[in-house]
Amino acid sequence: ITKSQELLDRRKEAVANGVGVFNTATVKEAKGAIIIDADGNELIDFAGGIGVVNAGHCPEPVVAAIREQAGKYLHTSFNVVTYEPYIKLCEELVEILPHGKKTKAMLVSTGAEAVENAIKIARQATKRPAVICYTGAYHGRTMMAMTLTSKVSYKHDCGPFAPEVYRLPFPNFYRYRGTRDEATFVKDELKRLHESALNLVDVKSVAAVILEPIQGEGGFNPIPQKYLEGLRAFCDEHGIMLIMDEVQSGFCRTGHWASWQHYGVQPDISTYAKSMGSGLPIAAVVGRAEVMDAAAIGSIGGTYIGSPICCVAASATIKYMKDIDLSKKAIKIGNVIMNRIQNLMKLHPEIGDVRGIGAMIGIEFVLNGDPRQPNTEICSKIVKGCAENGLVLISAGTYKNVIRILSPLVITDEQLEKGLTILENEIKKAIK
Ligand code: PMP
Repeated sequence: ITKSQELLDRRKEAVANGVGVFNTATVKEAKGAIIIDADGNELIDFAGGIGVVNAGHCPEPVVAAIREQAGKYLHTSFNVVTYEPYIKLCEELVEILPHGKKTKAMLVSTGAEAVENAIKIARQATKRPAVICYTGAYHGRTMMAMTLTSKVSYKHDCGPFAPEVYRLPFPNFYRYRGTRDEATFVKDELKRLHESALNLVDVKSVAAVILEPIQGEGGFNPIPQKYLEGLRAFCDEHGIMLIMDEVQSGFCRTGHWASWQHYGVQPDISTYAKSMGSGLPIAAVVGRAEVMDAAAIGSIGGTYIGSPICCVAASATIKYMKDIDLSKKAIKIGNVIMNRIQNLMKLHPEIGDVRGIGAMIGIEFVLNGDPRQPNTEICSKIVKGCAENGLVLISAGTYKNVIRILSPLVITDEQLEKGLTILENEIKKAIK
């Protein structure tokens, strides 16, 4: 029996089954884009801890910053005793993620918590209760975040859910275009958005619309440009806060700090976590200053908000990302992946689509080349096959029929090529 198998057996005995597991890989050490498993095998990481290690596993300046801070103080609670690392990180965030004339930020520990706080801030700023979200959305597992999350399997028997949440179909062009071109599709979807004021919820009671500009768990679905522009106009017309959840798409994944910068459409509030801290639990809500300041004193926060260790890790991550121009690397990696998978796609109608922005790329599998017939079975075969051959990757999508690539962006050309070859081989095997 291998050490990895031993660990997985112990996991089964002691850890609640509800804690899901995507992959059978284990870890003893990790560096850059490589994971060394419990038995000493080298694995190439295309999952990045669910999009958390864009700057790679254990980047040296980040580890050094954590070590240094650990020797000074670990915790005072920012609510009780003020420390510089929290302020410095907020200063950096408002500089790289400007929302309107003046921007402010607050820190929490997880993506779900950032979403919870974004909604609380939007409600206080508008004095309205309702929130509109989308099908295919994933916003986390706490009560409000889970309610906003679309996929039912994340929330069996977990209700009652938060009230005043309304859902629109995400404009997923690939799956639902039918015979329409993109312009016609977007026009129809914007009509649906405007009609929601008549048949879904009174716009005067809507505090916020929340969306991921490129959906993560939902299958790497980018929102059409014109739809996002139309949504911004709709929110402006009705005094609704537009919240963009950049937890998975942020911090260089799409070649920008946030994917909304790619679209050139600004949110009122946005949320970040994952790769911001290179693995430490840190998240942020960033927004227009007057919106952020609308939250009453004491109504947002918590004991561990912006732990000093996590703040210095995030600041070091941001500096490192700038120093090595990680966004540029994301674009380059994205092109390499796109070219290879597009070539494969020409030979295999089972690959319905390959899409994404920068290095946030998903490969959607379908039956008979039909976007409306998701092929779930093939993906689990591919993930399993890759795991057996030294490549860690995960799937996504309502139907789990999308392979998503979230490799560290510091991956070397050679590692990327090697990983893609394993993936290609497993795709070919699974198709047969
Ligand atoms: N929003 C998005 C877009 C996410 O992808 C995730 C995590 N997959 C979350 C929120 C929740 O983040 P966390 O798991 O840190 O609570």
